[in-house]
Amino acid sequence: MPELSQEKRTILQMSAVLTLDSPVTALPRVTPRRAALLQRLGISSVRRLIEHFPRTYQMEAPEGSVADLVEGQIHTVRGEVVACDYVVGRGKPRFEATIEDSHQRRLALIWFHGHYWRRQIHPGDLIRVQGLVRSFRNQPRMVNPRVHRIEPTEAPLAGSRLRSIYPASIELKSAEIERIIADALSLTEALLEEFWDTALLQKRALIPRAQAYRLIHQPQSRRDVAEARRRLIYDELMLMQLGLAIGRRLRDGAMTAPKLQVDREIDRRIRSRFPFELTRAQTRAIHDILRDVQSGRPMNRLLQGDVGSGKTSVAVYAMLLAVANRMQAALLAPTEVLAEQHYLVLSSLLRGSRVALGLVTHRTRRALRQPLARDLAEGRIHIAIGTQALLQEDIEFANLGLVVIDEQHKLGVRQRATLRTKGQSPHYLVMTATPIPRTLALSYFADFDLSILDELPPGRSPIQTTLFRSDQSQPAWQFLRQQVEAGRQAYVVLPQIEDSEESQIRSVKSEFERLQRGPLSGLRMLMLHGQLPPDVRQNTMNAFRRHEADVLVATTVIEVGVDVPNATIMVIESAERFGLAQLHQLRGRVGRCELPGFCILISDTQEEAALRRLQSMCQTSDGFKIAELDLQQRGPGTFFGTRQHGLPETRLADLSRELELLEICRDDARAILQTDPRLSDPSRRALRGELLRQFGEALALAGIG
Ligand code: ADP
Ligand code: MG
Repeated sequence: MPELSQEKRTILQMSAVLTLDSPVTALPRVTPRRAALLQRLGISSVRRLIEHFPRTYQMEAPEGSVADLVEGQIHTVRGEVVACDYVVGRGKPRFEATIEDSHQRRLALIWFHGHYWRRQIHPGDLIRVQGLVRSFRNQPRMVNPRVHRIEPTEAPLAGSRLRSIYPASIELKSAEIERIIADALSLTEALLEEFWDTALLQKRALIPRAQAYRLIHQPQSRRDVAEARRRLIYDELMLMQLGLAIGRRLRDGAMTAPKLQVDREIDRRIRSRFPFELTRAQTRAIHDILRDVQSGRPMNRLLQGDVGSGKTSVAVYAMLLAVANRMQAALLAPTEVLAEQHYLVLSSLLRGSRVALGLVTHRTRRALRQPLARDLAEGRIHIAIGTQALLQEDIEFANLGLVVIDEQHKLGVRQRATLRTKGQSPHYLVMTATPIPRTLALSYFADFDLSILDELPPGRSPIQTTLFRSDQSQPAWQFLRQQVEAGRQAYVVLPQIEDSEESQIRSVKSEFERLQRGPLSGLRMLMLHGQLPPDVRQNTMNAFRRHEADVLVATTVIEVGVDVPNATIMVIESAERFGLAQLHQLRGRVGRCELPGFCILISDTQEEAALRRLQSMCQTSDGFKIAELDLQQRGPGTFFGTRQHGLPETRLADLSRELELLEICRDDARAILQTDPRLSDPSRRALRGELLRQFGEALALAGIG
């Protein structure tokens, strides 16, 4: 048996005990100092290390000698540093070095502003440099070359290859991470067990799992990178689909919810509450809901429809159904203003009925709160409307049958309210004005059933949107005046309440004054923003609704739910400050009656991307298209304004772009669970382990594990 080198022996000993969950310090090169530096990159375990994927790749040319250098081409040369100097004289400060190759030919290197390299490169070092060759005073020279310090034993780079470039830090460079990961890969190759059977790998043309890890870190070609990525993204999406599907089965199988009955009489009574006929889309959604709430299992339904499509009316139907079944309902709104608005709308809708309403927000006075809590706990209040305040500990329901969550576009469904009730699990209905792009419907929302209101109530007019620069906005204000003179009302929306020193952006307070003195003088104006006390805000909204003012200058507090049909024009200033979905939501406040609606965007942005976004607002009123655009531009995280969706972050998959693979994964995940619902086949051990790791105990309950 050949002698093993010390290093090989250590590695052999280590691999006997190393697991993917071992700390990185279990790896040969990882000193405590390096471990601390890795920690700062978010890496503590071996698993996390091998999932530290390259940020990009660089092509490296094969090593040559100085004699073969050709001016104007990129070359790689290794040599010993024979001289170096930091020069601060004339011209830019620069670090200069000279290396000598094995034939004693010299190459000059220069880094402008290269102060950093003073501490990195010293005479006697063996380095490999790569860069563009220039001739300077008849000597070959590289400017700002890339450098790797190398060991004398390191074999020369033959053939071009791809070098992985990792997210790194100043103290821990990409090249060092590369070496650490190379160790980790050799030691863990056998631990990266396959998730999928050969037939599936073949069907989807996927490379084996361990090979994918190898190739994403050490590819020979771009093609390797592409194959590795595809395989790893497939795994990410599959695990997500399996986790969601199992979670859903768990929920559906284990929990019971009250059966809410409906008959002709109840249906007639509820419908008669609305001063209009429900649209066909609304009726369809109600049928979906009825099917759910009679199943005995908790409803988990997403009700999606553009602003003004009548979601709230559908939710009211469902809440009244709960009440008709002698159960309580709760309506959760994202803001105080919206909760108050819902309260008002419902109060007027239910005037003269025996249904008792309660409003609970953080502003509810203490003296009122206790009796409210008691009435809820004892079932005297039938419908509770409120904000997160409803989730607080002193609030408990006697028999909560239905929870409606009005999330508008600020979806954070995963932190879904768990309201306290003495009875069974309630049914859940989530309303959103954000059209869910298909990729997200298949991932984030895969465990929701979906109803879509794809039809606006009759008598709505399309909104015409126009973009102005502020120095050319005179016609816009004139137009607003004409609308007011014709008896209409207007909103003016600004991104902030007060002027700030850092930005040029106009604010509610200063713009209110400027408009009153200038472009809108003589009109009756009101101001609304979140700093005003709630009763003032309430009075302001009521006054505007009663047409005691013509113009409401406001922040985005009016973004959701505010409903004044006589308001036909909205001016949004510094429009580039808002997201697309938000702009769409905002302009949905006008055009709520037969009269045409107008939205005027004012922006002085010079940024091309921002301009393009605003122009697309002018071109389409299709909420779906806008949501897709928004998603592509901002990514799913910001899309929802929250990352608390509770799903594992995807490392590689960009959910806004992986529709095709997502659909494949949904099918594959289903097929697997159909034949092996508990994933109990011995060949699925690794898969089971990974699911448990990612989705935790929730799945252990489902008998997986
Ligand atoms: P959303 O919650 O989807 O924004 P709402 O339910 O608040 O929409 O409805 C917007 C406006 O349209 C409200 O004034 C509501 O009274 C009215 N509305 C809802 N459904 C209908 C309908 N079927 N016919 C006429 N008006 C309707
Ligand atoms: Mg609404």
